[in-house]
Amino acid sequence: MMMRCERHGLQTGREVSPDLGNLSALDPVATQIFKITFVCGEMDTHWFFLSKEFADENGLVNGLKVEIPDKFPAWMNELKVVCNGCFSEHFGNRSWE
Ligand SMILES: [Zn+2]
Repeated sequence: MMMRCERHGLQTGREVSPDLGNLSALDPVATQIFKITFVCGEMDTHWFFLSKEFADENGLVNGLKVEIPDKFPAWMNELKVVCNGCFSEHFGNRSWE
């Protein structure tokens, strides 16, 4: 998903849980972020970055890889999109990358 960032221009958006949508409000070190991946066969196709709290509420665990579901789960409707550049700058080089 592409988006336009005031700072970075046209960027790939990163899909995050709603509580991760406002980067400036988040502690870059203390915030726990889980990565969930949808796969198609051997290929990773979609990535989602969720707070631990949001993941817990939805029964998701860090590093989960699942085949793309036929019907998208309800939690996907709540996701926000943030600039990939802003996200990387804010959180630095962390283990999901
Ligand atoms: Zn940006």
